[in-house]
Amino acid sequence: TSNNVLLKVEGIDVSYGDFQALRKVKLEVKEGTVVSVIGANGAGKSTLFQAISGLQKPSEGKISFMNNDITGCLAHEIVAQGISMVPEGGRVFPGLSVLENLIIGSYTKDARKKKTKLLRRTYDLFPILLEKANQLAGNLSGGQRQMLAIGRALMSDPKLILFDEVSLGLAPLVVKDIYKQIEAINQEGTTFVLVEQDVRRSLRASEMSYVMLAGEIVLSGKSSELSEESVRKAYFGI
Ligand code: ATP
Repeated sequence: TSNNVLLKVEGIDVSYGDFQALRKVKLEVKEGTVVSVIGANGAGKSTLFQAISGLQKPSEGKISFMNNDITGCLAHEIVAQGISMVPEGGRVFPGLSVLENLIIGSYTKDARKKKTKLLRRTYDLFPILLEKANQLAGNLSGGQRQMLAIGRALMSDPKLILFDEVSLGLAPLVVKDIYKQIEAINQEGTTFVLVEQDVRRSLRASEMSYVMLAGEIVLSGKSSELSEESVRKAYFGI
């Protein structure tokens, strides 16, 4: 892993009408690493991902990616720069086939050109997706849907993947498998920001962790140096 900062979020505020969902949120993601964002329901994790992805506009602060200011860029421009999201709950298009869902992921100009190669890589990582290529995504199990959502994110050839709620609602064995795949994809050079509610797992899977509470980062540090105890306290605001 290099020491280059890939993503930098500097003091962003995001509001929904009168309600402020993010306050002065600051974080840094180094190239090649896995970073986790931990927090209870409503802490603001999804809002943070939406702000980075261009789906919410910060009223204050700055977001840069590879030293480019991307604050206020549109969602498709951000995907084209190399940031892709795996949405909460492995959301896919249930009425489309697995293959169609994957192809949708490579809609940017650069990714379209590499579509065949990207598809092969995705099938190598998730053979089940090749096996079920022509089946409706709506017929997949929860774990397979999550794999399809990851596959679709990979199809845009991202440098950074924002992964919302990695393990939510999935069986423990499936979760283990997903984390293995994350590790493999990371080792090939893709950087990850993971949102996770399982404190132990997120500390184990990442190099840096940020804990959010009520729209603010209340604790951050190297995952190996943070105790589960201190993270849990921060998580609950104790
Ligand atoms: P979860 O795990 O439940 O998704 P989260 O940490 O991702 O939680 P967010 O979804 O970012 O939290 O929500 C942060 C706060 O913003 C919550 O209080 C939520 O009720 C509020 N919020 C989220 N989306 C909207 C919206 N579209 N309009 C109004 N308030 C919203």
